[in-house]
Amino acid sequence: MADRDGKIWMDGQMVDWRDAKIHVLSHTLHYGCGAFEGVRAYKTADGTAIFRLEEHTERLFNSAKILRMKIPFTKEEVNEAQKAVVRENKLESGYLRPLTWIGSQKLGVSPKGNQIHLMVAAWAWGAYLGEEGMKRGIRVKTSSYTRHHVNITMTQAKAVSNYTNSILANMEALDDGYDEALLLDSSGFVSEGAGENIFVVKNGVIYTPDLSAGALNGITRNTVLHIAKDLGLEVVQKRITRDEVYISDEAFFTGTAAEVTPIRELDRIELGAGERGPITEKVQSAFFDIVNGRNPKYAHWLSKV
Ligand code: PMP
Repeated sequence: MADRDGKIWMDGQMVDWRDAKIHVLSHTLHYGCGAFEGVRAYKTADGTAIFRLEEHTERLFNSAKILRMKIPFTKEEVNEAQKAVVRENKLESGYLRPLTWIGSQKLGVSPKGNQIHLMVAAWAWGAYLGEEGMKRGIRVKTSSYTRHHVNITMTQAKAVSNYTNSILANMEALDDGYDEALLLDSSGFVSEGAGENIFVVKNGVIYTPDLSAGALNGITRNTVLHIAKDLGLEVVQKRITRDEVYISDEAFFTGTAAEVTPIRELDRIELGAGERGPITEKVQSAFFDIVNGRNPKYAHWLSKV
């Protein structure tokens, strides 16, 4: 990843990709207090556009606020930085990674006295869970790891440290031959994937865990709530049990990286017909229409670079 051409925006400057480095004594590297975003830019008939840029920037600032970090740039500057990075790297479409971290002035758990930094990188990145998974659906394992309790780490922050739990769950699932992990909350209710929100469909109604299950308030999740409304489908946010997923007709993951990915199996139990379901397909197709600028109703969600 580090050895390539291109530019990364670091603390207000465009830096050569290979030179975008930080010191080994950076506070975040030791104690894990930092926040990031995952954002996508898509090719549209009108040129490249970043999807829901303002909402991602807003969430980044909210994550920083929760972590008591003060980002030394305005939201407008961070939006501009993201557009500039896509342009500089000549991307038609791609994934953006803004990250804010604590500097290397001093160590010790208290971060006070350290500088807060921000960077934005962008690169081409296709289907996160594979092209085939997008069509056929993926195989998911209920993790042996519990998702964060809402008062242990802050689950509405997209905090760097929250991802050790995701990494453990994802590695366990992959080592066991699955494509991704599903995590339950500390009461045993369905929370989210390692990097995705989850939806299930039963008798034509869509269900998704409410955020008290410790899931991130996903921007794609929110996009799907709009899509469902447009399609005339009811969405219920509630506590969901693992066996409700087993007997669902369809299920899918959502996320900026994962987009809308069907789930065909959980714990070796086929969901519905064991393939991408018809409602999932409709939601997926509506999603790609929106992000690629083919639905004028949501043109305001696309920021041209
Ligand atoms: N949950 C987790 C743990 C994630 O990492 C992500 C990806 N950001 C999501 C949910 C989905 O969020 P979004 O749709 O905003 O990308």
